[in-house]
Amino acid sequence: MSSPRRPSSQPSRGGRAPWSPRGERGRLPPVSRCVGMVMWGQQPSPAAPGLEDSLCAIAVVGRSCALYPRLPGRDGGGTLPSHDAAQTSAPCGRDAEGRALGSFQLGHQDNIPSCTPVQRALMLLTPSLEKLQAVKCRMLEAMDKGLSRQTHAQATVRMLPTFVCSTPDGTEKGDFMVVELCQSHVRTLFVTLLGDGNQSPQLMYKIFDMPADMLQGTGEALFDFIAQCVHKFLEEIGSLQHRLPLGFVFPFSCRQTGLGKAELISWSKGFQCSDVEGKDVVQLLQAAINKLELYHVQVIALLNDTVGTMMASSWGGKPCEIALVTGTGTNSCFMAEAELVEVVEESNGRMCVNSEWGCFGDDGALGDVLTPYDHRVDQESSNPGERRFEKMVGGLYLGEIVRHAVLMLAAEQALFVGASTSVLGAKDAFKTQQVLEIMEFGEILQSVAGLLAPECTATLVPSADTNGLGVAMVTAVAQRLLTQRHEVEQLLAPLRLSRADLERVQALMRQEMERGLGRDSNANASVRMLPTYVCNTPDGTERGDFLALDLGGTNFRVLVVRVMQEGIHMASEIYVVPTSVMQGTGEALFDHIVECIMDFQTKQNLMEQVLPLSFTFSFPCQQLGLDKAVLLTWTKGFSASGCVGQDVVQLLRDAAQRKQHVALKVVAVVNDTVGTMMACGYDDPKCEIGLIVGTGTNACYMEERKNVGTVEGDEGRMCINMEWGAFGDNGCLDDIFTTFDRMVDEKTINAGKQRFEKLISGMYLGEIVRHILLAMVDKQLLFRGKPSLKLQTRDIFQTKFLSTIETDGLALQQVQGILRDLELDASFEDSVLVREVCQTVSLRAAQLCAAGLAAVVEKMRENRGLAQLAITVGVDGTLYKMHPHFSQNLQQLLQDLAPNCAVTFLQSEDGSGKGAALVAAVACRETSP
Ligand code: ADP
Ligand code: MG
Repeated sequence: MSSPRRPSSQPSRGGRAPWSPRGERGRLPPVSRCVGMVMWGQQPSPAAPGLEDSLCAIAVVGRSCALYPRLPGRDGGGTLPSHDAAQTSAPCGRDAEGRALGSFQLGHQDNIPSCTPVQRALMLLTPSLEKLQAVKCRMLEAMDKGLSRQTHAQATVRMLPTFVCSTPDGTEKGDFMVVELCQSHVRTLFVTLLGDGNQSPQLMYKIFDMPADMLQGTGEALFDFIAQCVHKFLEEIGSLQHRLPLGFVFPFSCRQTGLGKAELISWSKGFQCSDVEGKDVVQLLQAAINKLELYHVQVIALLNDTVGTMMASSWGGKPCEIALVTGTGTNSCFMAEAELVEVVEESNGRMCVNSEWGCFGDDGALGDVLTPYDHRVDQESSNPGERRFEKMVGGLYLGEIVRHAVLMLAAEQALFVGASTSVLGAKDAFKTQQVLEIMEFGEILQSVAGLLAPECTATLVPSADTNGLGVAMVTAVAQRLLTQRHEVEQLLAPLRLSRADLERVQALMRQEMERGLGRDSNANASVRMLPTYVCNTPDGTERGDFLALDLGGTNFRVLVVRVMQEGIHMASEIYVVPTSVMQGTGEALFDHIVECIMDFQTKQNLMEQVLPLSFTFSFPCQQLGLDKAVLLTWTKGFSASGCVGQDVVQLLRDAAQRKQHVALKVVAVVNDTVGTMMACGYDDPKCEIGLIVGTGTNACYMEERKNVGTVEGDEGRMCINMEWGAFGDNGCLDDIFTTFDRMVDEKTINAGKQRFEKLISGMYLGEIVRHILLAMVDKQLLFRGKPSLKLQTRDIFQTKFLSTIETDGLALQQVQGILRDLELDASFEDSVLVREVCQTVSLRAAQLCAAGLAAVVEKMRENRGLAQLAITVGVDGTLYKMHPHFSQNLQQLLQDLAPNCAVTFLQSEDGSGKGAALVAAVACRETSP
């Protein structure tokens, strides 16, 4: 790698050394025109608990005239020129609490008593604290307007998004270039960062004078000139041929749509080059650079000078989150919560907003603080009526305001009586520099800001950015983020499903459904489409007392359910099935179940009764009747031996026999999807679909009996337990599976099986996220590449974390908290990225679930020969119920994929208990005369 050399050329501008020494930043010669302040402040944020204690930095920069170094000592008493006038007339030397207003007085424009013309002029120029409060409120309103999507276009304070979302983290490395377009010159800067926490950046810069006529020339000439500066500079420091990212400092209002994409809204500060407004200035510069065949130089970031200032103040250790420029013009920027910046889709994290507040007041909001002098200055300017705030604050105008005040006083014979004032007739007779020399600008700024925002503590410190290093840092960060973003996108791309992907999944599901229903094709279908012998949904006339069992999820429960005219009453008990029992022998498992039933009956005083028992058994079963179900395979972590191929009702009866518990009358085996459908069907007769998204996922629906090739009979309908979790086990979804899904699958006890389920349900989502995070750490995209032992532990990242992390408005500190428990030291950006991973994985789950459901509802609609189908889905499962976005995503996507079906979702309450009892009750209803 070639490293920058210090060229031998002599300073190009009178007396100023254009080249900084390499290495130590502290020894750089200051550029006299660029001095500012950084203000450290406390920003309590009610939206983000825990933030109260953190210090937020606020950078304030004055440019174009050296403010601080030129300020006089305290000899002036730190007073405004209006000192005398204010003291005689202003009652507002103290604020509402009676605190002294600092070392200067605020004037009072209203009700001015008889006083000299000079006093009156000074009072006009000194708005009262009340007026300033009102201006502050109007500024806040204008800012809100700028942030809001609806009013952004008309806002005077545009609040432009900058796409700067991140501050330097010290890992930035490599060579970077910065080009800054200034009022009368172009500055080029070359920085080498060593990835050492930015301890010793090496930098060189050069300033090129710009011909004065360039400001009003063609845009092409301007950009060609800038490109030539880049060319000359690179020639002098030795031609570098490796890719060189360039940051472009362009201090004009731009509509930015990306860090490296920005249209100029309008010129200001005396610039008026043709053919630039409305164009992407990044492209214009890149094109000019390409003309010179400097193809290795790539313009990757466009920055406002304000943003550069803020970033420069960030790298010293504490983050700096506000910057203010008062130079030729005035502007500010600050880090806003991304969700407040409505014009940008992104709602994660923060983004720097460029306020462009120079135009504040262009709608009349400054009416009551504008003086006759301001109006004169405005009228004589090249853009009357525009940038009114800037014309009261910016260095380009302060001297003019003073000149007009003095001129008008002279005309009133209040000043220079008898002397000639012709010299004052010329524009720019007063220099802003001369004006600022008689006031303590920074001190006044700080005191008044303190009075107007007493909740915030702010300290002004001169900006450290005397050499443009800040901009180089942004460019470096941008480069790091660009590379990272690219890698993140590559990593996540396979998990992002297109509409076409989903349509294909829907079509495949439909195809597998048909195969599963066909008598001859059933054996080869991945979706088994199992008959349940449930042929009716509840009609409300069901009655009776039932026992119910619920096995097949996280908990094993025993219930007693009383179905009465007044409603359904239940009592239940949860029992633990230890993993050793889940994965031991079948005998032990069913013995355990019977023991639990006996315990329950004893507790409920039901030992003497023989109640019909309905068994919710949520595993794929070949049902041969309502009370005869052969287990096809275990899922969801169960693997008890000697059960597959057996009738589970018989296994239960056998166990009861062993335990001498003869009074057990099993009447139905019910899948949990069916229980859910039945439970919801009791409240809503349109409920003819059951869906589970919990530990696993599955669905059932009412199919026309004539379509069910695997069961005799053509009349009416039968509920089909789809067992859709196994969708894809025949390879039809292989191109949807990612490497992460394969890694998760390989470590399960049923590798290669339940492939659809492993993309969707609670047992797996956390694991998928964990594998993605591991890959990101490996690629140095997360946690600075630091591996965590804990993160390598299987199942350590629980699916419930996805719910927490994706919760809207959750402070990122809370995400950091979850990650800290996993021994991960997450930065702000890490947290945002982890959230993105969670969102990607849970969105995909909802998408796939929607594609599956779309196939179901469309089939039902076609079955019934309807143009429109109105139907209800009964849903159960903690993932569906607890995840903040899953259900909404699912419903929206389903609507999109099956537009001719109006689908209502009804959450089931205790489907497997209530629903199981209802299956038994409906069956009893059918058999009773
Ligand atoms: P089951 O499906 O076993 O009957 P649940 O419907 O309660 O049981 O689902 C349990 C699954 O839900 C667990 O595997 C777990 O991963 C997931 N889960 C638990 N809490 C949450 C949550 N807050 N958000 C999302 N998923 C959760
Ligand atoms: Mg369940």
